[in-house]
Amino acid sequence: MKKRAITTIGSGILFILLASAIYFWYENKKIDALNNVQYIHNQGEAQGTTYSIIYQQPDAIDLQSKIQKLLHEFDMSLSTYETNSTISRINRNDSTVKTDLYFEEMFNAAQDAAKRTNGAMDITVGPLVKAWGFAFGNKDHSKLPIVSDFLPYVGYQKVKIVNHKLIKADPRILIDPNSIAQGYSADLIAKLLAENNCKNYLVEIGGEIACKGLNPDGQKWKVGIDKAIDDSTSSNKELQTIVSLTDCAITTAGDYRKFYIEGGKKYSHIINPHTGYPVDNKLLSVTIIAPTAIIADAYDTPFMVLGVDSALKVCKKLPGVECYLIYADKDGKHKVVYTEGFKKYLPK
Ligand code: ADP
Ligand code: MG
Repeated sequence: MKKRAITTIGSGILFILLASAIYFWYENKKIDALNNVQYIHNQGEAQGTTYSIIYQQPDAIDLQSKIQKLLHEFDMSLSTYETNSTISRINRNDSTVKTDLYFEEMFNAAQDAAKRTNGAMDITVGPLVKAWGFAFGNKDHSKLPIVSDFLPYVGYQKVKIVNHKLIKADPRILIDPNSIAQGYSADLIAKLLAENNCKNYLVEIGGEIACKGLNPDGQKWKVGIDKAIDDSTSSNKELQTIVSLTDCAITTAGDYRKFYIEGGKKYSHIINPHTGYPVDNKLLSVTIIAPTAIIADAYDTPFMVLGVDSALKVCKKLPGVECYLIYADKDGKHKVVYTEGFKKYLPK
């Protein structure tokens, strides 16, 4: 999902506004008391979105060129914006393309989440995402698609990998990795930082976050969760709450940033793969904290499809995974509900 970061510096605080569901910030001028090494902040673009990475490297080595290289390799595998990426070649049925490691890891995590959510997570939802005007070069919202035309070639059981080849039950199948790819790439950058002796870092890619150690204040990282207010220009800065966390990942999915209104009705970019229609329930946003960002990102999107009760039920069965849901009650008032284990991240 395309996101944008705007950075302003004022009174020593670097506040990073993400055009996504999550905000984080830190005191720019502070240095770590133990070894006097300043935190480095890198920003840039990848996967049709932006990244913002803060880390402390003991020898003060700036790792941005390594980060850029990894993100480029990642894009050449999983970016649907790159015409020659593995994913784009698979989607146009290039018979010479083999699945690479990034594709396979993304695929396995997505298929596992698909099984555990009864198909609410489904990376074969691509033709529907395109038909509803949210990706693959189609932004036309003027006519509603005939959903039944697409359903025969949507379904996670219709694809498998055999000997590094993606086998499709129908050549019209399009794989859409965008619900999970940004989270996965945050994990890969976190791994790169760890391999380069960084013990304190926060990686944010397109709003999906992996973090470790402490922030420059010597505290856990602080991440804000947006209020779920319809805002397709991403200008709203109101926070629902702020969580404190470390050594884990946090991601959010919602229908209040990426949607359009046609004939007075709101259409979300998250599609129910069973019906073929954009989600339309009382659940407005799903934030997940999990050991890794690929896991968090694999579940935030299908939880939006499942709705409050089923999402909570599925979440309780996932080890180490906690969720925080914002929903509208019958009078349209915004309420929150979260799993027991989420409490420890919330303000006391
Ligand atoms: P965001 O892009 O808002 O950070 P998500 O992680 O929720 O959030 O990803 C949403 C994207 O996932 C959509 O734009 C679409 O490309 C894709 N998608 C939509 N519905 C589904 C679904 N049911 N299963 C898997 N992917 C989906
Ligand atoms: Mg997701």
